[in-house]
Amino acid sequence: MSFTLHGIAVSGGIAIGRAHLVSQASVEVDHYSIPEEFVGREIKRFERAVKRVNTELDTLEKSVKSDLSTDVAAFVNVHRMILEDSMFSEEPKQIIRSELCNAEWAVKLQLDASLAQFADIQDEYLRERKTDVRQVVERIMAALLGQGDVVPEKLQTRAEDTILVAHDLSPADVILFKDHQVAAFVTDLGGATSHTAILARSLGIPSIVALHHARQLIREDETIVVDGTQGVVLVDPEKTVLDEYRLKQNQWNIERKKLSRLKTAEASTLDGINVELHANIELPTDMDAVKQSGATGIGLFRSEFLFLNRKDLPSEEEQFEAYKTVAEGMKGKPVTIRTLDIGADKNFEEGGPAQSINPALGLRAIRYCLAEPKLFRTQLRAILRASKFGNVQILIPMISNVLEITQTFAAIEQAKAELKAEGKKFNADIKVGGMIEIPAAAICLPLFLKKLDFISIGTNDLIQYTLAIDRTDDAVAHLYNPLHPAVLLLISSVIRQANAAGKPVTVCGEMAGDVKLTRLLLGFGLRHFSMHPANLLTVKQRVLMSNMAEIEPLSAKLLKAEDVEKQLGYLERLNGS
Ligand code: PEP
Ligand code: MG
Repeated sequence: MSFTLHGIAVSGGIAIGRAHLVSQASVEVDHYSIPEEFVGREIKRFERAVKRVNTELDTLEKSVKSDLSTDVAAFVNVHRMILEDSMFSEEPKQIIRSELCNAEWAVKLQLDASLAQFADIQDEYLRERKTDVRQVVERIMAALLGQGDVVPEKLQTRAEDTILVAHDLSPADVILFKDHQVAAFVTDLGGATSHTAILARSLGIPSIVALHHARQLIREDETIVVDGTQGVVLVDPEKTVLDEYRLKQNQWNIERKKLSRLKTAEASTLDGINVELHANIELPTDMDAVKQSGATGIGLFRSEFLFLNRKDLPSEEEQFEAYKTVAEGMKGKPVTIRTLDIGADKNFEEGGPAQSINPALGLRAIRYCLAEPKLFRTQLRAILRASKFGNVQILIPMISNVLEITQTFAAIEQAKAELKAEGKKFNADIKVGGMIEIPAAAICLPLFLKKLDFISIGTNDLIQYTLAIDRTDDAVAHLYNPLHPAVLLLISSVIRQANAAGKPVTVCGEMAGDVKLTRLLLGFGLRHFSMHPANLLTVKQRVLMSNMAEIEPLSAKLLKAEDVEKQLGYLERLNGS
């Protein structure tokens, strides 16, 4: 049965492969005993979970009726039948009573028992229902745990044509893919600039988020096509459609090859304006991609990724080695290490900022580091020591007031004094910059410019905080608009003021790697871009074909455009040739 799903395209290219459902059934399920008097309460929990899944199926059914075939509606019905079967609506309650165990464990025991029966079934149709049973159970588990229905497997044995289909993935999950060559991934949740999406781009594989029901509708091992440029997933396509996409895939690969010829070309416009194109990285292992891209520096090293997927914190020595590897690898070119930006959608496995109701507005980034002086000191010492091995600079994330800068400077001075007393070498004149990603910092920029050596505009968060749109929430993803006049006013005014003050300014958010916006940013006066290496050559190609004399007036007009049509008209003209 062929059908198509639409989501938000986050990383271009075409992948053709077999679906692997990232499954919660592989999660270790908690098992604990309960006293007899808690049995009733546990059964109620279970009943509530089943009820919630029923409601989810209702919602799914409604959306299916409006945009998918009746075949798929039938598939939803199968799930409802499984949910209503006594095997899953009643048996787990018996298990809770007899085993005196928690509801999750009872559901798991029931799943194991029914999967064992499937192994003996000869009939292919009935055997296929195994996936349905698993999916329904995963939904019950998710409802019991009160969370999204996914924790990924560790991807040990999957082949290169594997396309991961998940309900949701955290940045920590995606970072695991770096070691496992998968062809693409798609998720039901997520926004275009969530860290999950950013990492997808850094992997250079096609990916799509916000597909809503992909995890529910796609079957294990089904053939799927992911068009990461259009944001479309084709499930079980006809042969002619597959052939068409194979052709598109070849064309894409040929284009990528052609682009690689630009690697050593200097990025300058037709009228001779030089532009720096730097790379964003998460780990030292990204250096291969940086070299392939011909980046002239690292504009953003998201150091927090050294802290994910582990139970302990990286020691000073371990961090020092990581920073030194990158500093040496760049051979004197700038390496901008951002201090720990933990919190919101990135967190330690254990400890770290407590999950607040609005984590993006909570104890995040520099706020957390200043509240944890020991952890901050360890990182600052490691960065300072690495500064001896290259052109390292420090970048402070999420600054919202000047006191944070003063306090950070004090911490840096203290780390320097310690290292000096210990006879350890470092660059005493290391440059310190700040990220402009909170509107308060953009609005009061002169106060910040006075203190900092350079600034970097984090457009991902700047858009989130200016428009009050959670960047990870697909429900409001349609409102996350980089071209909102308020966003453009802030960005252009920050660039203008920094240029006037003679302070280097970079854009390191996803806008910098979006080729549709390259000329607009050039027109605003931006000369330093930092992006994932996978986007760099496409942006360089655009720079090489740009003429400032044409771009500047159009960018100024776009900034003043009074309605969306006019704005898009100017954008089209900017990207015209
Ligand atoms: C940004 O906010 O634009 C940015 C570059 O930082 P991050 O995406 O890591 O929050
Ligand atoms: Mg940010």
